[in-house]
Amino acid sequence: MTFIKSLIAAAVDWFCGSSPKVLCGAHVWREGVAELRRRANGRRESGAFLLGNIEKDVRVIRKFLFYDDIDPHCFDNGIVEFNGRLLHVVHTECRKLGLRLVADVHVHPGGYGQSSSDRENPMDPRSGHIAMILPNFAKGEFVPGEFGIYEFQGRDNWINHSQEGKRFFKLTR
Ligand SMILES: [Zn+2]
Repeated sequence: MTFIKSLIAAAVDWFCGSSPKVLCGAHVWREGVAELRRRANGRRESGAFLLGNIEKDVRVIRKFLFYDDIDPHCFDNGIVEFNGRLLHVVHTECRKLGLRLVADVHVHPGGYGQSSSDRENPMDPRSGHIAMILPNFAKGEFVPGEFGIYEFQGRDNWINHSQEGKRFFKLTR
């Protein structure tokens, strides 16, 4: 893209309010999804905290921190049951890396809709937190538009951004 064209694209994004709110390097995303697929192994859920930075209201994902690396019993019953008393380990890891918790992702056996448990138990209760759900035990490559993206708004309130695809969540080089 030429400089002028990218300038125009940036201006259109700005005026239309359509610049992405979540960014992730394509290789970080691809490797993270592959690891979730491997851990789910076609028979149970898997999941990860997504650590990164928030720059001018945009959440930049830099690292997957897998639930079962912190809580080995997280998937004893096949679904996400993360022990909240271990959240301090996540925050310690964030401090060590100079990152913060910006989102989370977990795998469902079937579709990517939120379960009532997903809606009632955000991994981070702060407004703006993003929860993503990969369907079908993460069997696939999954570009934005093919999985669930939900933004927590406080209480039981979530905005479903799944259909916005890369207008909301962009993979970068
Ligand atoms: Zn779920």
